[in-house]
Amino acid sequence: MTDQRIINFNAGPAALPLPVLEEIQASFLNFSNSGMSITEISHRSSYFDDVINDAVDRAKRLLGLDDQHHVLFLQGGASLQFAMIPMNFLSGDQSADYVNTGTWSTKAIKEAKIQNKKHVVVASSEDKDFSYIPENIPFSKDAKYVHITSNNTIKGTQFAEFPDTGGVPIIADMSSDIFSRPLPLEKFGMIYAGAQKNLGPSGTCLVILRKDLLETGNADLPSMLKYSTYAEKNSMYNTPPCFGIYTIDLVLKWIEEEMGGLEKMEAYNKEKAGLLYDFMEASNFYRATAALGSRSLMNVTFRLPSEELEQKFIKEATAKGLGGLKGHRSVGGCRASIYNASTIEGVKALVEFMEAFQKEAK
Ligand code: PMP
Repeated sequence: MTDQRIINFNAGPAALPLPVLEEIQASFLNFSNSGMSITEISHRSSYFDDVINDAVDRAKRLLGLDDQHHVLFLQGGASLQFAMIPMNFLSGDQSADYVNTGTWSTKAIKEAKIQNKKHVVVASSEDKDFSYIPENIPFSKDAKYVHITSNNTIKGTQFAEFPDTGGVPIIADMSSDIFSRPLPLEKFGMIYAGAQKNLGPSGTCLVILRKDLLETGNADLPSMLKYSTYAEKNSMYNTPPCFGIYTIDLVLKWIEEEMGGLEKMEAYNKEKAGLLYDFMEASNFYRATAALGSRSLMNVTFRLPSEELEQKFIKEATAKGLGGLKGHRSVGGCRASIYNASTIEGVKALVEFMEAFQKEAK
């Protein structure tokens, strides 16, 4: 228990930029002089129209999207997308390629399988416990899409470059690295991200969808499970997750106006992750678990010489206000999630603690 804000390395829900939280706090009771909280305003009001349109415009500006893309907000987290993607885009004999790089890719594949949709797992890094990103992947020529997880939150790996699929559109789960770097947009048919790491509160999922891919979508689906329903109604077929969209808008404003856009965001993220990886490379105590060349700038996963030391490390770090360093329950070890909102000062504090802990343990 503490009455201070900690340095938060949680994997998601995760730290949000402090200026965003402060702005939410300051305007929580009376949003935009409406006399109401953002959580009390009608989604059919001009107040909310301004919020959602601003969020869409900012996403487009940041990524350099043209009018060939929809920016949508859905509910059901990223996990619902695992099911909606094959449901919307595969029919009859059409098949999709999947790259399996960990738990979240495996779950995406499972949802295609459940629906009996044709799919091929064209590459997997399961042979080495998902510690690397596969290269030279034999993509199918006639796949409808290629599904990848751009950043693997649990195993701490990330696509440094996006593969050449021979023109087949990539559909990427970017839940844990959206807006952390510029993107080669021409490669993607769809990008989606659960909000709770780099964007805002959980429960909202951002979907960026190319119009030509949407046009090939299956029509005969329940309304709430069909992308066109959201595209036709500016994400307001039903009541959208208003608070989530509002927070995302503020986070995008922070990236654009405070952090200077995605190139600068990427440089900052490289600097932060570099501090941790370089320190561990030089140490014979901490061991980064992801292979060189596949290491994530967002989730730095590592081990100590023993599980006892890991437990002690996490306990002592927590006592010093460095929180959320426990690895995912499925893999153990340690993980520092350093999304956009984590600060260089926070990462430096972690490195200092790691150094002191190592000295003390030896
Ligand atoms: N994909 C990735 C890469 C994730 O990290 C997560 C959650 N940690 C999910 C999907 C699932 O997201 P949600 O809980 O929003 O369904």
